[in-house]
Amino acid sequence: MTDETLLDRALIRLEEAASHLQIDQDVIEKLKYPRETTKTRLLIRMDDGSRKSFLAWRCRYDDTRGPTKGGIRFHPDSNIEEVETLAFWMTFKCAVMNLPYGGGKGAVRVDPRTLSKTELERLSRAYMQAFATTVGPDRDIPAPDVYTNAMIMGWMADEYNQITGSVTPAVITGKPIALGGSLGRNDATARGGFYLVRHLASELGLARDHTVAIQGFGNAGQFYAQLTAADGNKVVAVSDSAGAIHKADGLDVAKLIAGKSSGKRVTDLAAELGATVIPADDLIAVEADLLVPAALEEMITIDNAGSIKAKVVLELANGPVTAEADKVLTKNGVVVLPDILANAGGVTVSYFEWVQNRQGFYWDLEEIHARLKKMMEREGRAVWNIAKERDVSARSAAYIHALGRLATAIEAHGTQPFFAG
Ligand code: NAD
Repeated sequence: MTDETLLDRALIRLEEAASHLQIDQDVIEKLKYPRETTKTRLLIRMDDGSRKSFLAWRCRYDDTRGPTKGGIRFHPDSNIEEVETLAFWMTFKCAVMNLPYGGGKGAVRVDPRTLSKTELERLSRAYMQAFATTVGPDRDIPAPDVYTNAMIMGWMADEYNQITGSVTPAVITGKPIALGGSLGRNDATARGGFYLVRHLASELGLARDHTVAIQGFGNAGQFYAQLTAADGNKVVAVSDSAGAIHKADGLDVAKLIAGKSSGKRVTDLAAELGATVIPADDLIAVEADLLVPAALEEMITIDNAGSIKAKVVLELANGPVTAEADKVLTKNGVVVLPDILANAGGVTVSYFEWVQNRQGFYWDLEEIHARLKKMMEREGRAVWNIAKERDVSARSAAYIHALGRLATAIEAHGTQPFFAG
């Protein structure tokens, strides 16, 4: 066991991309460290009258290209290293998509399932009280992530408005529609990945009726299942934190989603769907053309990457494949559509939400979908072309694409802002 951190492992991708570009070492030095990470303890009143405290963080990793942008995660295993790594990935994701943002991220170490709704609201409001001077529509713009949602963003936006005494919907994205949320935000991550796969399908060797296995059946996983099934493809296996199910001739996605919405685990639905329960770890090894990791980071490692039979991996989750596993996949001819591109639909529609909030004029769903599709296809094609021209993996190509933009912006700033970090 080494003491290498998640961020150290993420930085391998930066170094690798830099080796393909003529980039000043100062640029790399700047991108190796977060600009600022704030840690605090949120003390909230529980329903029984007692007080409980929760560790919380907000990281503004890099703001060279604009205000920092990134979700807030509520998870019992959250830690500073994960927050900073997720913020690093956001920096590159926003650059890949050419969004006028830097990267940020936040988290609270909590299992939100153990809190009542009123406790969850107090915790969310406490988070905003603690970070009210960190965030801002021109400074740092949070959004939902794992185990946070529109309702929580709505509470946080409301708290910010109360603190500042003005209504500033652009301070946070992923809000309920009634509070200035955008149409199309709920399925944006999955939809972006879906547009990407459809656009590159022939290059990826994916037929119109390909088979799909999805690891993690939450927001991203469920919407991906719905979109791909409606497009004529077969979802043959899914998993959640409790287990996995498999059905070679395709699962009934509508029933699966209805069952999950009623609070069941995917394994509870196996009998009703005529599916087989399989060990959760076996999901990645099922026969499928496309594997979609949509759970947590580092789920595909050097120990299990060799078992993947899919031709293509679409990383809807952030960081699901370790750098060592990446090498195994490349060696085995598996194409990985990397997280910083594959799941960028979410932050792209968050950007649309921020734009709409600032202009006070709202787009219809058709316009949101058309703009998202255009941007996913444009940046997806650019990444694909770099991969082909330079004979590198799609992941390296995405990092090269993003790093080029970041380097140009860092150099354009000159030395003063560089050293102010
Ligand atoms: P979510 O909480 O809605 O869903 C996560 C799912 O993963 C749940 O079904 C959970 O049961 C499952 N899971 C947890 N541990 C698992 C395990 N060991 N094996 C299998 N399944 C497991 O979260 P989400 O919003 O869908 O996010 C999923 C991933 O996508 C995360 O990595 C997140 O950072 C990334 N992502 C989400 C968005 C978004 O807009 N929702 C945007 C970009 C990236």
